[in-house]
Amino acid sequence: MRGGVDGPRPHRPTIELLESFPTEAQVGTTIDFTVRVSCHEGCDLGGGVLEVVDADGTVQTSQLSRADVEGGVVADLSVKAPPRTGAAKWAIGFPEQEIGGCVHEEGSLAFTCEVLPHTTSMAIWGVPTPMKGSRFTVNVGIKCSALCPLGGQLVEIWDGEGVKLGEGRLGDEPRPDTVGLYEGEVTLTAPDRTGVFSASVGFSPDELDLPHVDTAGDFTFRCVELPEHTVTVRVVHEEIDAPLGDIEVRLGPYQAMTDSEGVAGVAVAKGTYELSLWRIDIEPVSMRVKVTGDTEIDVAAAPRRIVDEDEERMWM
Ligand SMILES: [Zn+2]
Ligand SMILES: [Zn+2]
Repeated sequence: MRGGVDGPRPHRPTIELLESFPTEAQVGTTIDFTVRVSCHEGCDLGGGVLEVVDADGTVQTSQLSRADVEGGVVADLSVKAPPRTGAAKWAIGFPEQEIGGCVHEEGSLAFTCEVLPHTTSMAIWGVPTPMKGSRFTVNVGIKCSALCPLGGQLVEIWDGEGVKLGEGRLGDEPRPDTVGLYEGEVTLTAPDRTGVFSASVGFSPDELDLPHVDTAGDFTFRCVELPEHTVTVRVVHEEIDAPLGDIEVRLGPYQAMTDSEGVAGVAVAKGTYELSLWRIDIEPVSMRVKVTGDTEIDVAAAPRRIVDEDEERMWM
């Protein structure tokens, strides 16, 4: 037996977490924390050893290295949340060891944390105005809360009645200039009638190693009649020197871009539309047009007026 009747009494160490251990963590993520060990007798425990034991019994050894102002010695530790959800448990053990000529008895500290699945968030963009019955695409972006690679994962689109409209897969690499946002194009077929429709996008990854919570999003789209006529819009100069190409021409939901001559042929159904022109450097134009057959329209474009916002505010 150590420390017999006449031997010195072993010192008792105190083990404490310096900041509270998180109560929740996501599967597979790293949890950093700091532990302080001190001796009641004031020994310097630098060089002492700590053991971190996870629920599977795996032991990881670290050294107490950093002196603490409170008179103890600290170790910066990290553990990994297991790849399954539920309660996870770790223990920090201070094995019996002799430091500074004195025996320090063993001590331990246990702590638990609830391990949760990763969550995912969704963005939907690029929803067009399709013609009835036509195939069209929307862009869906998915991001994991722990930034898992999501390339190749399936995204599905359903209508309000639960009928699947289409599916697509996320690209292999994250979208440029984003952190972990994986983008996919989903192709679907528009209903065979005009109107406004809603659809929901579902992401339920089951091919990933770690558990993830499903996510869903909604969008609406307008289905329009098949075009039967062409409206040829000719943009003409009005004090404008810039080339007349790449101007967006819209007739209600129908749209085309001008060519280098400033001409755009917009295919539309019969009806009355708001015709508008848009390009960043030209003054927006809007006019009403009734289409009953193929027709040609000249529209004058002027350079965009620079608006002094302060001046404008004065008149509000
Ligand atoms: Zn001591
Ligand atoms: Zn993830």
